[in-house]
Amino acid sequence: MHILGIDIGGTKITACLGDGTGKILASKRILTQPLGGSKNGVEATFDLIQQVLKDSEVDIAHVQAIGISSPGPIDYKAGKMLTPPNLKGWENTELVRLFREAFKKPVFMNNDANAAAIAEYEFGGCKGIPNLIYLTLSTGMGGGVIIDGTLLQGASDTAGEVGHYVLDIHGPFCPCGLRGCFEVYCGGANLAKMLQKKIKHEQVHTQILKEAGGNIDTIGANHLIEAVKKNDAFALSIWEDFIERLAQGIGVILMCFNPEAIVLGTMAIHAQDLLLTPLIKTLPKYAWKQPIGACRIEASILGSQISELSALALAISGLKGHA
Ligand SMILES: [Zn+2]
Repeated sequence: MHILGIDIGGTKITACLGDGTGKILASKRILTQPLGGSKNGVEATFDLIQQVLKDSEVDIAHVQAIGISSPGPIDYKAGKMLTPPNLKGWENTELVRLFREAFKKPVFMNNDANAAAIAEYEFGGCKGIPNLIYLTLSTGMGGGVIIDGTLLQGASDTAGEVGHYVLDIHGPFCPCGLRGCFEVYCGGANLAKMLQKKIKHEQVHTQILKEAGGNIDTIGANHLIEAVKKNDAFALSIWEDFIERLAQGIGVILMCFNPEAIVLGTMAIHAQDLLLTPLIKTLPKYAWKQPIGACRIEASILGSQISELSALALAISGLKGHA
């Protein structure tokens, strides 16, 4: 079986060809911003697909489906993007219709976090576990919820938006319009912003700044993790607060869904036990022991191929009638 996967991101667009087991046979990428918007962007993606097919010497006739992983928010039923905040010029693009018309294949689209949850279910370390939740734990805090082997879409496509339930009504404002969202405390971009502000205003001497090469403006969550590894006192205190909020957020998920597995993305991949051990220790403050005991909590093993695998997984799951 051959399938095409398209990952549309704020930085780059990737097209890949894969088989039914998640093996990537060919992959090509282009930068998104120089394309200016969806008019050129969709055409350029069609060209990218042709190059991928040519490189792998596979005829489009042998491709069974196309999966498209898109930044949210999307209108799932209409198969279109809505107003992706990091993708100017792509508003309301009817991706499913355009790709279906161009290639005459079944096309399955979802937002990137939902797509990644399906990739974990199809190919990840918790593959095949029917009640599985994925948290991106990357720049933002996206999520995807799989219940009984099927992605939970919700009445208006916002199921799994775990990054935006409110942990503290008096907390900092979130660009989504609410205050004190889970993402405000645990999303990488917000964490970086908070660190930069604190280090600048309080003139803290910390390993975090050294990890960032002395440039406050480039401090990111990865520098925090490196400083925690070196037992920097300031970094450890920030990490403690981060773990507390992460446990609070994951506690809600455990109580709501009683999942068998929670898979964590980027930051957990980098930090591993540094994150997982204190997280698991803190969870009993926020959830009952039954859901905690029934759930595996692990870092993703899909690594840097997650975006390609996400798009492929959408096509595979779609062909099975699950997406
Ligand atoms: Zn929010």
